[in-house]
Amino acid sequence: MNSAFYEFINKEISIMNPKRLLIVGGVAGGASCAARARRLSENVEIIVFERGPYVSFANCGLPYYVGNVITKERSLFMASPQLFKKRFNIDVRTENCVRRIDREKKELEVENLKTGELYHERYDALVLSPGAASLRPNLEGIDLSGIFTLKTIPDTRKIIDWITTEDVKRAAVVGGGFIGLEMAENLKIRGIDVTIIEMLPQVMPSLDPEMAILIHDHLAAKGVVLCLGSPVKGFKQNNAETIDIMLESGHKVSADMVILAMGVRPEIELAQKADLAIGDLGGIMVDDQLRTSDESIWAVGDAVEVNNFVTGAQSLALLAGPANRQGRIAADAIMANGTPYPHRFRGTQATSVCGVLGLTIASTGTSEKILKQLNHDGKLQPYEKVYLHPDHHSGYYPGAKTITIKLLFSPQNGKILGAQAVGVEGVEKRIDVIAMAIQQHGTVFDLEEAELCYAPQYGAAKDPVNLAGMIASNILRGYARIAHWENLAESDALLLDVREPKEVAKGCVENAVNIPLGQLRERITELPRDREIWTYCFVGQRSYFAQRMLSLHGYTARNVSGGFLMYKAVKKLLETG
Ligand SMILES: Cc1cc2nc3c(=O)[nH]c(=O)nc-3n(C[C@H](O)[C@H](O)[C@H](O)COP(=O)(O)OP(=O)(O)OC[C@H]3O[C@@H](n4cnc5c(N)ncnc54)[C@H](O)[C@@H]3O)c2cc1C
Repeated sequence: MNSAFYEFINKEISIMNPKRLLIVGGVAGGASCAARARRLSENVEIIVFERGPYVSFANCGLPYYVGNVITKERSLFMASPQLFKKRFNIDVRTENCVRRIDREKKELEVENLKTGELYHERYDALVLSPGAASLRPNLEGIDLSGIFTLKTIPDTRKIIDWITTEDVKRAAVVGGGFIGLEMAENLKIRGIDVTIIEMLPQVMPSLDPEMAILIHDHLAAKGVVLCLGSPVKGFKQNNAETIDIMLESGHKVSADMVILAMGVRPEIELAQKADLAIGDLGGIMVDDQLRTSDESIWAVGDAVEVNNFVTGAQSLALLAGPANRQGRIAADAIMANGTPYPHRFRGTQATSVCGVLGLTIASTGTSEKILKQLNHDGKLQPYEKVYLHPDHHSGYYPGAKTITIKLLFSPQNGKILGAQAVGVEGVEKRIDVIAMAIQQHGTVFDLEEAELCYAPQYGAAKDPVNLAGMIASNILRGYARIAHWENLAESDALLLDVREPKEVAKGCVENAVNIPLGQLRERITELPRDREIWTYCFVGQRSYFAQRMLSLHGYTARNVSGGFLMYKAVKKLLETG
């Protein structure tokens, strides 16, 4: 593109500028929007209203400040009102809460929380980025001292202060989502015993339950107590000045402090009062340029409902990445609508990562749980899945660590539907690659052929992403036939364990026949031809070789995906109901 073209765009941009852009909320979405808008126009007046005392702070870093991993509070501040003024000529008003939107007059009513003064500001364009509030359900005793939520810098101060002054030894974290797990990690780092209380039978609800089992095992190994399937009924101060967390089951957990990490809900009061359209999930409705039902108002971040482009369903993204990108897109839509490349939000795909006590958990796209519920025109969406347990880099290079990956895809065309990974190293890198493939509407064949960087200390010549694609492609091409552990009970297949006897001695599946892979060719006639054979090994690779050998010799064989490693997880799942 030549310079005349850029001149054209810049001219268009300055012509389209509104005179006054007001933004509600000065953190992820709001601050991104403000700074981007200034980069697109020197003429627009930009005012950001932030209810809290700080703007543009790293809320994602808060748990690590509690854990003293981030040691200086000032590291959490990305920018100050002074910096916004000096660098961007943006007027940031902290401790100023927007109380009302007058859509007719295009005016905001704002309360200066420091003075109590109420004043009005007119807008040409308005962006709402008010975020989401931590859930604090109306349970008995929820307002007792020592019960905290974590959302802001003042919240972290209160938590740290309580830990120090009350000499906290035991904490309960209610909620096992990513904030709950991050808080569990950071409280542990501070030497505090932690119990996680979760209403669902698993932590990290974005994962499928058999993958979550890997996290449960890890947490238990690290000394975190898990109370799963345990809705909280209320809280009581007991005589010893600790808090009793009363569970619906009748049991109780005692702790010196409680962190509520029970989820969030979009802050939509302003939008609701202004009669903007609200979606079924309780978020502000927006189009793909983040415009609300009012043509002069945009909304971004945790407060909005967007399309999940894998499932097609409405969804709340509730993540920093989408909020930041949406802030930018809204600024582009407001300031630069003359561009030949209009910036549109593509929808969310729920790509997320969480670290807990040395374990990394990442996922993108949809889960099997969701796929089981999805109904398109009365039909369930068909899907297939594979599990694999590759090393994060070449096994011969010291320090290789296993990643467990689950890949979901369409059996009709190989389109990737979702992926989950749990491991110690290299987990998020693989999920990031798959996330990009999903965004490009990619298939398992694309993963098979992805050309990724490799040297032994970083990856493998067949990277875990390639392997996931290769395994799934083999299924679609008809080379590999697979089975799943959860279907074992209804099957009358012969189960063939192709591991070495010393491995079998450490644990195996009941009633399995053991013929090590190395002996299978000469002992193949021991196997029945009139019965399906399910092969398994530790991770699923040798059993794939066995399945191929059996198929080529005319047997009906399937390889149980994920091997004995997944069997242990699925068995636990079935035992715990
Ligand atoms: C502890 C914690 C850890 C997190 N970790 C991660 C992570 O690791 N990865 C990730 O992707 N996401 C993470 N998130 C989520 C991420 O922070 C949010 O998705 C993101 O900040 C949403 O951006 P937002 O602009 O919509 O809202 P926010 O960043 O929450 O900003 C909204 C702001 O609007 C202000 N406001 C609301 N109403 C008004 C009003 N009427 N007037 C004036 N101001 C108002 C609020 O005070 C708030 O400061 C984390 C969140 C928390 C709380």
